[in-house]
Amino acid sequence: MVEPALAFIGRIEVEMKIAVYPGSFDPVTNGHMDIINRSSKIFDKVIVAVVNNRSKTPLFTVEERMELLKKSVVGLPNVEIDHFEGLLVDFIRSKNAQVIVRGLRAISDFEYEFQMALMNRKLAPEIETVFMMTRHKYSYLSSSIVKEVGSLGGCIKDLVPESILPYIIKKLKKN
Ligand code: ADP
Repeated sequence: MVEPALAFIGRIEVEMKIAVYPGSFDPVTNGHMDIINRSSKIFDKVIVAVVNNRSKTPLFTVEERMELLKKSVVGLPNVEIDHFEGLLVDFIRSKNAQVIVRGLRAISDFEYEFQMALMNRKLAPEIETVFMMTRHKYSYLSSSIVKEVGSLGGCIKDLVPESILPYIIKKLKKN
């Protein structure tokens, strides 16, 4: 009687679909949150992975970006926050994940995303990239525009999760 139960547990583990949503998240916006929310309903687990990209100069450190994400995903039990440096496909393999999630806002996103997806497929053919189309109301939204508007004193209230708004405003004021 014990064996089939163990086999059943084993089968569940094997079938678990884990997706990685990589990005700079400098800082996380409501556009990112929309993709995180929607992908958490499709996959068993979503790992939001902050890229430590040395060629970009971020406003928030990796630790700060992870902290803001953690505060934003409270209430989404199958979403984890992590970070990585180096090749995305290596990180994905280390997490036993099978899928890369990316968001698409406009045609301007497409060329870069297409190139990355094809390169990742060449490096790791077993990993699939899934694109999620932005919600119309977030199609203009990016971390850069949040930083630009916020640093000039504009209202960013509806652009980032409410729980992290004070942290972002404080950081923008400091800079
Ligand atoms: P990166 O530097 O890797 O592009 P970003 O943090 O800017 O990191 O974006 C991470 C992912 O989220 C990308 O796939 C990007 O297209 C997507 N994204 C960013 N903003 C939005 C938005 N408003 N709606 C949908 N997807 C978005």
